[in-house]
Amino acid sequence: ATKTFHSLRPPIDLPPEDAPISAVDYVSSLRATLPWRDDDTVALINSVTGLRVSFSEFTRRTNSLASYLQNVTRLSKNDTAFVLSTNSIEIPILYFSLLSLGVIISPANPVNTESEISRQIQLSNPVIAFATSSVVHKLAKLKHRTILIDSPEFDSMTMSWNSKHELDRAKVCQSDVAAIMYSSGTTGRVKGVMLTHRNLTAAVASSFASSPKRVSPAVMLFTMPYFHIYGLFFCFRAAALMETAVVMQRFDLKMMLKAVEEFRVTHAAVTPPIVVAMSKGGSTDGYDLSSLETVACGAAPLGKDTIMAFASKFPKVVLVQAYGLTESTAGVFRTVGPDECRRWGSTGRLSAGLEAKIVDPETGDSLPPGKEGELSIRGPTIMKGYVGEPEVTSATLLPDGWMRTGDLCYIDEDGFLFIVDRLKDLIKYKGYQVAPAELEHLLLSHPEVADAAVIPYPDEEAGQVPMAFVVRQPHSSLNEAEIMEFVARQVSPYKKIRRVAFINAIPKSAAGKILRMELRKVAVPSGSSC
Ligand code: AMP
Repeated sequence: ATKTFHSLRPPIDLPPEDAPISAVDYVSSLRATLPWRDDDTVALINSVTGLRVSFSEFTRRTNSLASYLQNVTRLSKNDTAFVLSTNSIEIPILYFSLLSLGVIISPANPVNTESEISRQIQLSNPVIAFATSSVVHKLAKLKHRTILIDSPEFDSMTMSWNSKHELDRAKVCQSDVAAIMYSSGTTGRVKGVMLTHRNLTAAVASSFASSPKRVSPAVMLFTMPYFHIYGLFFCFRAAALMETAVVMQRFDLKMMLKAVEEFRVTHAAVTPPIVVAMSKGGSTDGYDLSSLETVACGAAPLGKDTIMAFASKFPKVVLVQAYGLTESTAGVFRTVGPDECRRWGSTGRLSAGLEAKIVDPETGDSLPPGKEGELSIRGPTIMKGYVGEPEVTSATLLPDGWMRTGDLCYIDEDGFLFIVDRLKDLIKYKGYQVAPAELEHLLLSHPEVADAAVIPYPDEEAGQVPMAFVVRQPHSSLNEAEIMEFVARQVSPYKKIRRVAFINAIPKSAAGKILRMELRKVAVPSGSSC
């Protein structure tokens, strides 16, 4: 019998799917319902300079930039804008102005190499790019206009334009694509994930509904990147809940602790390596972290030992966990409130409006509580598909709306999700995606490599690191360091191969598929999963 798990959270009201309401409009409508709404509340703080932008100023700058982009740059609905930048307070302003015009945002990691970026550009086909001056050279091959985000020109676009020109609001519908994000999905190379205004609306709505009611704005520390779905989601959530976002350009533990103390941060959204670093004895000594109420952690598994160490070091701080994918517009399971957060080992319960199934990978049957299988999810936050790749889309997103996650999980009797392992070909290094297929492709381009396979290897700090199994050509004396160096020269730093083993043959199925599980057992004989 089919067993479907339904969300136990109260249902949420969403606008009709064809409603002419953008995710930006929706966020404003949520903000208008806050009982203590005050437009002088600080929306954004630059964690280094302390520069502040209030909500009224945020709206003014967003409108000014949108007006410039519409009247001068002539951007219009369904154009795509590529964004290559580290975190800064300009990014939410840029995102909101583009999205209010119906322009599709496509942000990428600024540490990506030129060839990685060319592939992303090929997928999303942008008509314009926004970049910071330190990385703009990576867009040399892009034929279209590039606007520097850290330039006086950009400042003037956000400061004074709307006084001169009216903004002609394009009709943006819920079903329009809002963002193309990059993810390798369950297998193969990077793909462009199409998320709609509805996806973002539903993600924000469910998070808004389950947020504890406050009497004053939360101060949220942003350590996660705005180019990842995790950062994009929190950008929307902060705008809906009128939270003050303290924006860090890059993560550094000491700078983060200093920012918590200086700006009286109440909430921090982080990835597991940060929780690991904070939990270590002595690592936070000398900082006043008494303002901290909640630390939200997602993007990769958090070990039980770390959770326990964190809980004993910070007994008053609630450690919220969330599980999600780029393809599901971030968190689909999350722990809400201190009781759920005490379910150590679980990443929480299904968010409002969603359904889940645990599918037996062999038989395709959906399984009852407590049984392990592949998690599938259905609901309004599930992506529209991968841009330009209908076959890959239909292998992930089934016709009845269920999306395969590639994660091996079980759901207990009370609806709590437990992640056991990853069935898909995906390595997560500090929460960042590394696609084995991409590294294998590079390894095979080396003249002395006869065959290669890449697997995740467990690592305390990073969660996982990419490990390569290499079959050398006869008489080759290629060594580990040469292999690591060969790959490192061609990929983003987080994708580097950090372990190498030589082998006589790569184990493969009859169909020629690499048997990664066998290699994982060779790499870690104890069978400990990552
Ligand atoms: P991304 O699209 O980069 O967000 O990656 C999605 C994948 O990250 C998921 O399919 C999981 O394999 C993993 N992941 C995300 N959140 C968690 C979590 N809380 N615990 C364990 N794995 C997670």
